[in-house]
Amino acid sequence: MSLFFIQKFEIMKKIILISTLTLSSLMSCQSQSAQSKNTNTVPTDKSITPGTSHSKNPYYSRKDTTPLQIEDAEWEKILPSEVFEVARQKATERPFTGKYWNYKGKGIYYCAACGNALFKSDAKFASSCGWPSFFQTIRSNSVAYQTDNALGMERTEVLCGRCGGHLGHIFNDGPAPTGMRYCMNSIVLEFEPETKKK
Ligand SMILES: [Zn+2]
Repeated sequence: MSLFFIQKFEIMKKIILISTLTLSSLMSCQSQSAQSKNTNTVPTDKSITPGTSHSKNPYYSRKDTTPLQIEDAEWEKILPSEVFEVARQKATERPFTGKYWNYKGKGIYYCAACGNALFKSDAKFASSCGWPSFFQTIRSNSVAYQTDNALGMERTEVLCGRCGGHLGHIFNDGPAPTGMRYCMNSIVLEFEPETKKK
């Protein structure tokens, strides 16, 4: 009997700890902290190379911008599980862990689920929040917005304008000219370096 309660108590402790960690990482995303000194390690291009195969994903296209209406069960079959967890189940990656949070390459960021063009690297800025941050999208309809009241906070969720996948949140503490900060999850972004020709 008592052993059962001890086990239950241990599980509860774990749940509380996990919730606290998740909440604190979200809070740090929300308030742009002043302590900006993050490392200036820039990943090499090798670590960024897309190389992702979309052969299992018939909806992926970098040209077609027609909105998609696809069930989560179908996405689950065709997306890598870590992309599915963020794009369709609205998970948030831990700060300072994603491949793009401090990446400075020149090019375009696409939706990793459907190939929709989302951001230009010109609109990316060095944010101390630990997630890749942009001040504007590549087209006005690249993304869609929706109110998110989860975790007792009112935030605005940013979704892919084509597939409706969760990308992150938007805050109004970004730099000029827009003053906005699109706080994104690296795992749902796919970077393509710009080509040399001008
Ligand atoms: Zn998408």
